[in-house]
Amino acid sequence: MATFGTLSSRLTDTFKNLRAKGKLSAADVDGTVREIRRALLEADVSLDVVKDFTGKVRERALGDEVNRALNPAQQVVQIVNEELIEVLGGDQRRLQFAKNPPTVIMLAGLQGAGKTTLAGKLAKWLKGQGHTPLLVACDLQRPNAVTQLGVVAEQAGVAIFAPEPGNGVGDPVKVAKRGVAEAKTKQHDFVIIDTAGRLGVDAEMMKQASDIRKATDPDEVLFVIDSLIGQDAVATAQAFQEGVDFTGVVLTKLDGDQRGGAALSIRGVTGRPILFASTGEGLDDFEPFHPDRMASRILD
Ligand code: GDP
Repeated sequence: MATFGTLSSRLTDTFKNLRAKGKLSAADVDGTVREIRRALLEADVSLDVVKDFTGKVRERALGDEVNRALNPAQQVVQIVNEELIEVLGGDQRRLQFAKNPPTVIMLAGLQGAGKTTLAGKLAKWLKGQGHTPLLVACDLQRPNAVTQLGVVAEQAGVAIFAPEPGNGVGDPVKVAKRGVAEAKTKQHDFVIIDTAGRLGVDAEMMKQASDIRKATDPDEVLFVIDSLIGQDAVATAQAFQEGVDFTGVVLTKLDGDQRGGAALSIRGVTGRPILFASTGEGLDDFEPFHPDRMASRILD
């Protein structure tokens, strides 16, 4: 099935109607743009992003590139495809590596977003490329989080640094710093710091994440977001951008997302690129995010 099934079939239906026509009148273009707008809004895409997107599509669809095209409808689909790639981030942005290892990656996001699972996925993916990541357990809020990180570390076959009783337990900032120091001593070339989330945006959580960021000076701060939360993703992303100033986004649970609202909004709203997508509970259900591939899967 196509990615974001509901959105995908809405757009495909719109284009089916358009293809039945030969030359396109301004009214045809307006009708199509209106349908695209409705489809995006129903998919929970942020209103500003929808306005911007449909404005660009409309302007281009009324312009010369469509007028002169042998197949105007096909040209409109091409324009939508290009604008989708743009809204998803344009060129793919790769993970930034530190000049002097270790590369420090901090994960931030709400509880349940999929951070701990992602830590395992990222570690396994990096290990597969010959790296030696160290997972650092700084989610000391959720009773089971450290144990859960231990489980994914074992599954991924990578090392973990976790607080020992009486040795800084309860202070995630200290644990994070010690974790990075441990990575230097033991020559791990990547450090992945799992942090605590709450069910909703919370000042204390944000301060903790911000303190960990200051203490460890990460090369990447990845904001992990459950794509199923739809429109709420925008407000959450803005709060985290203000609170921790993340460098990139990881979308999780794309396997269950029929609408795509978070995926299509996040770049426009935060200006930060989506780096990875998580597509299931298993450690291999994970891939670098390619805007062009995602766009063509939507228009499949
Ligand atoms: P955390 O609180 O942010 O650390 O979130 P967890 O890593 O504990 O994930 C919360 C739940 O979401 C767990 O049951 C995971 O198995 C599940 N999960 C994480 N990523 C994905 C994903 O991409 N797809 C699906 N379907 N489930 C996921």
